[in-house]
Amino acid sequence: MTNRTHQEMLEKYAEAIVKVGLNLRAGQRLIITLAVNRGVPIQFAPLVREVVKAAYGVGAKYVDVIWGDEEIMRLRAQLAPRDALDEYPVWSVDAVMRMIDNGDALLSIAGINPDLYSGIDPEVVGVIQKTHLKHFSRVSEKVTTNAVNWCVVAAAGEAWARKVFPHLSAEQAQQKLWEAIFATARIDRPDPIADWQNHIIALRNRAKYLQEKRYAALHYSAPGTDFTLGLPDGHLWISAQSVAQNGVAFTANMPTEEVFTLPDRNRADGVVTSTFPLSYGGSLIEDFQVTFEKGRVTKVAAKKGESILQKLVETDEGSHYLGEVALVPASSPIAQRGHLFFNTLFDENASCHIAIGRAYRFTLAGGEELTDEEFLAAGGNVSLNHVDFMIGSPQMDIDGVTKDGKREPVMRQGEWAFDA
Ligand code: ZN
Ligand code: ZN
Repeated sequence: MTNRTHQEMLEKYAEAIVKVGLNLRAGQRLIITLAVNRGVPIQFAPLVREVVKAAYGVGAKYVDVIWGDEEIMRLRAQLAPRDALDEYPVWSVDAVMRMIDNGDALLSIAGINPDLYSGIDPEVVGVIQKTHLKHFSRVSEKVTTNAVNWCVVAAAGEAWARKVFPHLSAEQAQQKLWEAIFATARIDRPDPIADWQNHIIALRNRAKYLQEKRYAALHYSAPGTDFTLGLPDGHLWISAQSVAQNGVAFTANMPTEEVFTLPDRNRADGVVTSTFPLSYGGSLIEDFQVTFEKGRVTKVAAKKGESILQKLVETDEGSHYLGEVALVPASSPIAQRGHLFFNTLFDENASCHIAIGRAYRFTLAGGEELTDEEFLAAGGNVSLNHVDFMIGSPQMDIDGVTKDGKREPVMRQGEWAFDA
């Protein structure tokens, strides 16, 4: 829509990340790191430098970056002693925790090679990932309870780009992925900041409407889907913007198209059919159906990757239940791209989805204060996993079911069926 150069787009992107995503306040410090692992790959330096400039531009007190390198991560998996795979750079978690405890902001940049560990012994990768999750849980807990303003965005890593566009040269693929990132993050609009503000208000109005309805359940119908999902008392519909415990209103994901809450873990009944392949742990699960009875998965079937899907469901007790229900119109700009991104930040914003596993505490009123047992009793779900899968399509109708059993249209043919 505009004729900006790549450099100009990076600048606009950085500005939107700082002003809309983080809403960084004058006097705050900012730490930039990699999503779900340590260190921003040095290949993302051009974006990181623009974010640093934009951050100081709004009065940041100090900006710090934890750098990393994908190749070094892979070398470690290949070469480090097998009995030392539980080594971990605890200092990097301490560094992030000190910033969070001080009320500073946190930016994560996604986009590393989705197949970074391909060909490496799954046992080795398993130990590395488990060790990371264990040490990083201190940060994850702060992030999932919105302790500070935080944001996750993407950069077009080279290997990721080649996975998304395998038929293109490395350079063309990367260019094409940047274009997709900019378009879905609304950076190709004449005034990206104003566009984001309108988008945030529109999503908030949808969430407010659903909140006031306090539906007891949602009913989904589409080819291969006839499914009723209960919503617990106290469920909160959440959209793009939230207020962190440090008082800053921020937008945690760029892009974001979803309005979401938690389902009642004990009230899911019927069959759902996936409408997009699910990229999970480096494998693709395709054309699958999940059957539920009283909230619990009773059967899975897939044309491809059925055993992986079965394994995912069997991770723990909680992964037999659902933890998120999200509404996204079929006309979402991410769906319009017409391809899978192999990254949840994008793929979950392509369509209505539900998530196997953990529910977010902030989707239940007072959820942050509950123990696991209390959260479960209130209808929330607890699991090591949280895996979104897409069920929406232009053929899907969704009804809201009121407490007295009346049905009202929420979505028709994949699009919102109410004005807000
Ligand atoms: Zn979601
Ligand atoms: Zn999710």
